[in-house]
Amino acid sequence: MATQRLQYRRRNPYNTRSNKVRVIKTPGGSLRLLHLKKRGTAPKCGDCGTKLPGIPALRPHEYATTSKADKTVRRAYGGSRCGNCVRDRIVRAFLIEEQKIVKKVLKESEGKSKSGKK
Ligand SMILES: [Zn+2]
Repeated sequence: MATQRLQYRRRNPYNTRSNKVRVIKTPGGSLRLLHLKKRGTAPKCGDCGTKLPGIPALRPHEYATTSKADKTVRRAYGGSRCGNCVRDRIVRAFLIEEQKIVKKVLKESEGKSKSGKK
């Protein structure tokens, strides 16, 4: 069985990134080229670079036409940072605040003990 030569079904005659095709078999049994759309890229976490879960990988035009609810997560930094990174940020901020309080308390107690000695 000789390999069948197939024709592009659109005007672009070159094998470029935007002119990718797949061979399909039609219901009538003949082979034909199916033009494929470019694959979308998934948004990634700005801190760790992992693909954000819950957000689909689409082409820019598809992002423009889908609703906001489908492109984000209902959380602080949702749609920008992953859940683990947000947790890290919250924990870090909490610890920094705690450290400030500890420093303040230490300073106060130090000042009291000094004044007590005098
Ligand atoms: Zn992350």
